[in-house]
Amino acid sequence: MFNSLQDKLDKALHNISGRGKITEINVAETVKEIRRALVDADVNYKVAKDLTKRVQDKALGQNVLTSLTPGQLMTKIVHDELVDLMGGSQEGINLSGKPTVILIAGLQGSGKTTFSGKLANYLQTKRNKKPLLVACDVYRPAAIDQLKVLGGQIKVPVYTEEGSTNPSTIAENAINFAKANNHDVVIVDTAGRLAIDEQMMNEIKSVHYFIKPQETLFVVDSMTGQDAVNTAKAFNDALNFDGVVLTKLDGDTRGGAALTIRSVVEKPIKFISTGEKMEALDLFYPERMADRILG
Ligand code: GDP
Repeated sequence: MFNSLQDKLDKALHNISGRGKITEINVAETVKEIRRALVDADVNYKVAKDLTKRVQDKALGQNVLTSLTPGQLMTKIVHDELVDLMGGSQEGINLSGKPTVILIAGLQGSGKTTFSGKLANYLQTKRNKKPLLVACDVYRPAAIDQLKVLGGQIKVPVYTEEGSTNPSTIAENAINFAKANNHDVVIVDTAGRLAIDEQMMNEIKSVHYFIKPQETLFVVDSMTGQDAVNTAKAFNDALNFDGVVLTKLDGDTRGGAALTIRSVVEKPIKFISTGEKMEALDLFYPERMADRILG
């Protein structure tokens, strides 16, 4: 994960560690290398610029020039800034409500259906819940079948309405079904499109309005870099979602989405998805991610 970013940051910080006495110019050079590493990793330019400005100010403010271990001090400063950038602490999901209703939104192919299954599995095995999955994609029968297969694997029932064309009605009926059958969490998987379009946004806004979820999670493919951030903005404008799920972090992602989304949409990353298996889901800890990035 983030191999290239890791290497470049390591190199930048290593350069400053190897010196005896360092100067303001050395600090400025290191900061520039860090900025370049972040931008190369697809971090939004302004985000990278602001972060490295803070690193520079802190480094000079904390007397990095006279420090016996300038490399370590710089690494600590960069680490703390990365943690802050990614939101500081882990933010869990809101499981209030009887039942708790969780709406899953995102583009087609982002990993929504896979994540819906993983979330149900997590809630069932780790949080002692009795989830119900709901298939609301009225356009792609294959998406409904996919959710049924996942539900079968993890032994979580899947609510479907063959032939129905109204996702809001399906979701509302599913909530009533959940109440009648003692399900305490309802996970609503919705239809996505390959790109943002008005009809999709209107539809998901309508489902959101009707079911009033406790938690709306936006799922995004981390491999899509800057596009992930733009998509997040559009979905946040439409839904004011509660949290982000970053998928495909097991792939060769450069890291830009993970590092930029929080500061652009001001919503926490709550989960990361790291594979196709139902167990490949982790809570997102900014501290752990910064540790990984800095190796
Ligand atoms: P949806 O259209 O948003 O519902 O996306 P899917 O859940 O169908 O996922 C699209 C593809 O990405 C499928 O082939 C999934 O198996 C795959 N996928 C989903 N999440 C991950 C992940 O975290 N890592 C990897 N490697 N593949 C994933």
